[in-house]
Amino acid sequence: MTQPDPTTGGSGGSGRAEGFLPPVPDEDGAPFFDYAARGELRVQSCAGCGEPRFPPRPCCPHCQSFDSLWKKMSGRGRIWSYVVPHPPLLPAYAAQAPYNVVLVELADAPRIRLVGNLVASADAALNSVAPERIRIGTPVKAAFHRTDHGLTVVRWLLERP
Ligand SMILES: [Zn+2]
Repeated sequence: MTQPDPTTGGSGGSGRAEGFLPPVPDEDGAPFFDYAARGELRVQSCAGCGEPRFPPRPCCPHCQSFDSLWKKMSGRGRIWSYVVPHPPLLPAYAAQAPYNVVLVELADAPRIRLVGNLVASADAALNSVAPERIRIGTPVKAAFHRTDHGLTVVRWLLERP
């Protein structure tokens, strides 16, 4: 659901980022972004059996219940995997390469992995952490960045910068 954060971030940046692809929340995923806008990382969970699930969807894959709630997470996790995209990239992305896309395993829900970007601060540029600093297993914590498109996305910071 979450895509690499499309903006350069920061009020002193280049303004609305042309050519980037913003996340497009659907009905099931909209609460994720609503909570993020409040600075909360929440994961949809089954109200029947308690299992968290991602991406958000109407039915529990474990017990088939349609009842769900949104559990608040601590925001802590570990880098489970990552990529450093290489050309050919869309022009807007090429301008920020090399940047990273990380897959973060949540400490509170180890089977849930979220896609995002590892950055130096919530509003820093996509390429603000050098790729050679990224290691699988490194502890990270969630940060919240309001994009130029108006959505707040979850990004990731090193727990020990
Ligand atoms: Zn269930």
